[in-house]
Amino acid sequence: MYVSELGEEWHRARVEPDIIHLDSAAAGRSSDSTINAVTDHLWRESRSGSYVAAAACAEQMQHDLRGLSSLIGHTPDELTFRESARACLRALLSHWSLPVASTVWVAKNEFGPNLDEFERRGYAVRPLPDGDVYGHVDTDALENMLQFEQPAFIHLCHIGSMSGAVQPAVRIVEVAHAAGVPVVIDMSQSVGHVPTVTGADIVYGTSRKWLTGPRGIGFIAVRRDSLREVEIPDSDAFIAGRVGLHNAVHELLAVGQQRVFRELATVGRVTRERLNGIGSWEVLEAGDEPSALVTLAPPPGWQTADVRAAADKLRATGILVTAADSWRAPLATEQSVLRVSPHLDVRREDLDLLAVNLRTMGY
Ligand SMILES: *Cc1c(COP(=O)(O)O)cnc(C)c1O
Repeated sequence: MYVSELGEEWHRARVEPDIIHLDSAAAGRSSDSTINAVTDHLWRESRSGSYVAAAACAEQMQHDLRGLSSLIGHTPDELTFRESARACLRALLSHWSLPVASTVWVAKNEFGPNLDEFERRGYAVRPLPDGDVYGHVDTDALENMLQFEQPAFIHLCHIGSMSGAVQPAVRIVEVAHAAGVPVVIDMSQSVGHVPTVTGADIVYGTSRKWLTGPRGIGFIAVRRDSLREVEIPDSDAFIAGRVGLHNAVHELLAVGQQRVFRELATVGRVTRERLNGIGSWEVLEAGDEPSALVTLAPPPGWQTADVRAAADKLRATGILVTAADSWRAPLATEQSVLRVSPHLDVRREDLDLLAVNLRTMGY
């Protein structure tokens, strides 16, 4: 039985998986229609030439930009593409050319590889205080801090890579803008997953996770009235991938984005309820956190290698999850966790099987 009322429809739109796929935070499963959109374009490229094929679909692509831009609260002309979210961040930072020693404020869930990008450019990174045990930013403290100091920008992972906590992005943008500070949001884990109209100056994300678009394409949008201007030139990154991404967005909007977000929140709640405390694994999010990214802290005494071994063992029994090591969120934790990120097609039997395996796994 599907956890979500959208489960059957979501499942039917995709090939039968070989495994129980609970790993959307790594890469979601594309629909048949999205795969066909990508391959159709690749066939067109081979038949008529890549540039001819691109020109032939240029008008349609221009039209399709509307879907993605509305999903993230931007306008179509503000969007450009790169091959990944990371490449988007790099493009932003190289075209922004902020002074060395600029300061950037981040939440503690900041993605490790993003911190490397800031470090490479000599930016000083300052973590914002948490307002609770789940790692949500303390927006009152932020408001206070901004009265004394203004960073060059705030960079926020809307949802991080090793916690399902959804940051209060709208409030953070409000508070930052009141102090004249621009906000950049990494939406890699939030786009297609939770509401992503935030008012931020610059947002970027990836196709392959919750949107279940193809792997190898990322997007970035700079608001025309951004508090700090930057021009990111167009690139011709993976046209077939863009076609697929637009198809995935179109499917999401056809179902209704709010409905998908609500149902994913249900999936997260049910998953947390089912797994918390099983075999001494502990769910790290609040039960009703409105996301389907669930992390489990291992039983006491387990090391990184043990968590990896657990993920391998699960995979051997046909369940795909991620052993998430602390490099993903080095400001938040030193502990490895098991990341369980089901999409709308998860069934109660899948969670039962995972629970049985977690219970019997140990020493
Ligand atoms: C996956 C992820 C990224 C990187 O996405 P790519 O498209 O692989 O570059 C960035 N930030 C967060 C929070 C992520 O989870």
